[in-house]
Amino acid sequence: NGPWPELSVVVAGIGVSGFAAADALVRLGARVTVVDEHDGTAERERATVLHMLGAAAYLGPGSTASLPEGTDLVVTSPGWRSDAPLLAAAAASNVPVWGEVELAWRLRDRSTPWLALTGTNGKTTTLRMLTQMLRASGLRVGSAGNVGDPIVSAVLDPAGHDVLAVELSSFQLHWTHSLAVRSAAVLNVAPDHLDWHGTMDAYAADKGRIYQGVESSCVYNVADPVTERLVREADVVEGARAIGFTLDVPRVGMVGVVDGVLVDRAFVDERQTSAAELASVDDVRPSAPHNVANALAAAALARSLGVPPVAVRDGLRGYEPDPHRAATVATIDDVTFVDDSKATNTHAATAALGAYESIVWIAGGLAKGATFDELVLGARDRLRGVVLMGTDRSLIRASLARHAPEVPVVEVTTTDNMAMEHAVRAAADMARRGDTVLLAPACASMDMFVDYASRGDAFAAAVRRHGDR
Ligand code: ADP
Repeated sequence: NGPWPELSVVVAGIGVSGFAAADALVRLGARVTVVDEHDGTAERERATVLHMLGAAAYLGPGSTASLPEGTDLVVTSPGWRSDAPLLAAAAASNVPVWGEVELAWRLRDRSTPWLALTGTNGKTTTLRMLTQMLRASGLRVGSAGNVGDPIVSAVLDPAGHDVLAVELSSFQLHWTHSLAVRSAAVLNVAPDHLDWHGTMDAYAADKGRIYQGVESSCVYNVADPVTERLVREADVVEGARAIGFTLDVPRVGMVGVVDGVLVDRAFVDERQTSAAELASVDDVRPSAPHNVANALAAAALARSLGVPPVAVRDGLRGYEPDPHRAATVATIDDVTFVDDSKATNTHAATAALGAYESIVWIAGGLAKGATFDELVLGARDRLRGVVLMGTDRSLIRASLARHAPEVPVVEVTTTDNMAMEHAVRAAADMARRGDTVLLAPACASMDMFVDYASRGDAFAAAVRRHGDR
């Protein structure tokens, strides 16, 4: 059991990953105290379970104000900022602060390689594609991370795994220290969460931590120079390689696309003079460019572990797109209604808007510090009209007024449960035959909805009612 029974550990935040971390630490024999300033139903239920296991748990305002005397280690939830009083106190007294990912890394089975990925957008999609590819090659795969199961739970899963595929957010990476995975990918880096990270450089640097200590392959996006820079700046094991992915014809050492076929010119033979055909672009669903990029990144990670081309193809064919990601909800009177509620930042919305010709765009919500000029400039020629809703809609309206004054805009000013109904009706009124009504908000949903999924569900329900009328 190592040093754990000697240690007093404070777990900051009793969310899903905090609970998993506390549970693991108690089982290792550590003295565990969990704190969270929220004391809602979910927090109380988790606290009760942890009490029964032998941990102390304090909820409510004040519980997180200071660091308990004698604390040896803090394990923090990814969303906590380093200026939170408890974390600042830990830093001031040289108490280490780990995220749940760092804990998982220290507790891992050393014989199981990790394939890790991050990026502003496409993480979950790429993780699912990668997981399918690894499965198709016959490996027992643990798949965990940002949205899935906590990574400690995957690491401690008694069933064991041949490989662990993990998705990491910039927040999670911020709190890692010794993570050094077999292969890692940064899919893209675009402005998001700047309210948390402070600057774009700080955000990119946190993403770049995923490349530290990589043993086999650093997979980067040829079209995104920031990802390439992060590889150059990383300290990797000697012999580790940089593998680019590109939607164009790949150079030697890259994966890319030739005549509608995904090809590998990186892991083919020792001299890498030939190319291996992996799959057809049509095997990628949906086959929009950004998603083909996700498939290439997943393929590069899988190939770095020796997964054969046929398993890459079968994995892509077996991948089922997740809901709320460019999902076609209905076609009514020759107008297609698409739910891309997961487009919670401008980079994702840009990809979504780029995939259709003539669009009535539904957008708005919480901007998280984003600006919208670039998005509007890129999309304005394809906009039939725009419907704006949510707290920060005036920011988008101002960008539209500056750069696309001729595009009609309707604003939904209510925030009740009829708002999406109004938005869909207004959008349907503007649309003409052949158009796409696209929910790609470029904003977070929490001002009006529980999360992006319920926003997408509200959209789909309103579209169905519109069709029934
Ligand atoms: P994440 O887990 O990083 O949030 P998802 O796979 O859930 O990523 O996709 C989030 C949103 O970004 C969706 O709206 C999706 O359509 C869009 N998206 C997916 N992949 C990319 C990409 N490579 N570039 C830009 N947008 C993307």
